[in-house]
Amino acid sequence: MKLKVYFASKNKNKAKEIKNILSEYNIEICIPEKDLKFPPEDADTFKGNALNKAVFLSKFYPDDIVIADDSGLVVPALNGLPGVYSARFAGEKSSDSRNIKKLLKYMKDVKNRKAYFICVAVVVFPSGENKIFEGRLLGEITEKERGNNGFGYDPVFEIPEIRKTAAELSEEEKNRISHRGKAFRKSGKYLLQFLDKSTLL
Ligand code: IMP
Repeated sequence: MKLKVYFASKNKNKAKEIKNILSEYNIEICIPEKDLKFPPEDADTFKGNALNKAVFLSKFYPDDIVIADDSGLVVPALNGLPGVYSARFAGEKSSDSRNIKKLLKYMKDVKNRKAYFICVAVVVFPSGENKIFEGRLLGEITEKERGNNGFGYDPVFEIPEIRKTAAELSEEEKNRISHRGKAFRKSGKYLLQFLDKSTLL
């Protein structure tokens, strides 16, 4: 038997990634079949954004467990930027390459290049209770882009232990160490106990 969990995202690639990560926990990730207009990601914390999405979705699926996440890149030397603004760092109509260009400009002459990706996953239960899980991937911002895989800031995010940027990793390699992989595996482990649905009631 599998535990059905609704995932609050319209992004099919992201849903596929989460499906892969959670498949080993007997969790069946479903994306909403309804055409929903998710609330804007305008909270000032990752947790706030993820919670807003999850609570919104659970109104449409009140009898099911839902899960939502928010993620981004944090650079302590830039006081935490791009942070919750990661997707729109270079403006509302920004693209990955414009965001990267802006980041490298901000990082010019910055010695402390430490950074981390963070993912906050929120699980909301039919009772309205929620549980929060966090995952981080530590790295450093490079001076130039390297690699063709991944998305977002991957080409300028180097993982020091392997001296590769996240864009130089295969999808599988990245899932194994990524912030999203960590946050969702923690959620998966936790949800295993609800596999027998009767414990939910
Ligand atoms: P969201 O969680 O899809 O809202 O992600 C917000 C933004 O954070 C993305 O648009 C990317 O710019 C950045 N981001 C989150 N995770 C990653 C990652 O694994 N690699 C590169 N960029 C990421």
